[in-house]
Amino acid sequence: MGRLLDNLAVMLGRAPRKPAFLTPAAQREFARQNSKEGKADRKRRIAEEREENYRSHFWRNWRWISIVVINLLFVLSYRADIQLVEGALTASRFVGFHMADVNSALQVMLAYKHVVINLVIGTSTVVFIWWLVGGRSFCAWACPYHLLGEWAEMLHLWLARRGLAKDHQFHRGLRTALYVVFAALAVVTGYTVFEVISPVGILSRAFTYGASLALIWVGVLLLIEVFYSRRFWCRYICPIGMTYGFVGATAPVTVTYDLANCLHEGKCRDVCMVPHVLEMTKIGYADDVRINIGADCTRCGMCVEVCPSKALTFDIKGLNKLL
Ligand code: SF4
Ligand code: SF4
Repeated sequence: MGRLLDNLAVMLGRAPRKPAFLTPAAQREFARQNSKEGKADRKRRIAEEREENYRSHFWRNWRWISIVVINLLFVLSYRADIQLVEGALTASRFVGFHMADVNSALQVMLAYKHVVINLVIGTSTVVFIWWLVGGRSFCAWACPYHLLGEWAEMLHLWLARRGLAKDHQFHRGLRTALYVVFAALAVVTGYTVFEVISPVGILSRAFTYGASLALIWVGVLLLIEVFYSRRFWCRYICPIGMTYGFVGATAPVTVTYDLANCLHEGKCRDVCMVPHVLEMTKIGYADDVRINIGADCTRCGMCVEVCPSKALTFDIKGLNKLL
């Protein structure tokens, strides 16, 4: 329970903390890593890995396919009139059954100021499905803006390496503050204000029903991410990501950290969109030998792919080291 609350606090914007207490197993492992033999072993393994230059794109490829297929389903259903999935990612009908994105449903109910039963039924189904597969896995495996954001991020990093762009970071609590602002705006105006500026809804509707002027806004966001602030929208603004973070806080599908395998090089934190969830990979920050990564993790698998010593793996709780 303590770790869950800690994860949620970090997701809301609190800086991760060095643990005050380590389990006996973690103490033994750190003692081993800090011994003369442990240090020599770590040095040797790091040298071996640098020679191998390990990097896989297994999960990334599957994720990209998943995002394309999910979004294509909406397009094909509408254009080919097969009526499999009608609507957009924010609200849809799957073979006639109502489905609603959690954040959109919240916004609508706040704007209407009453509980809409159809939305509750549709949202419960969505919540259950995304809880099963990890909550913010919606971001990495379904959200169309995530895919564009990833490409913008690649460009940003390429420019940054050449000194042509710089990442301007903001306090992560900004997303929490804006979450409250968007909710308050829905209540006060009776209108789902966030949906107007959400690139997720804009893109999803544009794919299905055709381009609109709102795409200019998505272009502006991407330019900000390329030149000014890495993953700006997803890191500091988007309430959808945070809502799914809450949904997935206790999800069975998780990424798990194994202290004994970690060489503390920090490659995982370099690639992660939410590096605060990987704080335990720093020396002395893991309070146990096996830890499930926190609620803000999108289950994108980039840390799993980049970690040469397999210290990070996809797990289903109760079935250790599934993949
Ligand atoms: S944070 Fe928002 S825009 Fe970013 S991937 Fe998640 S849902 Fe999509
Ligand atoms: S911890 Fe790993 S799986 Fe989770 S968001 Fe970061 S890189 Fe992706």
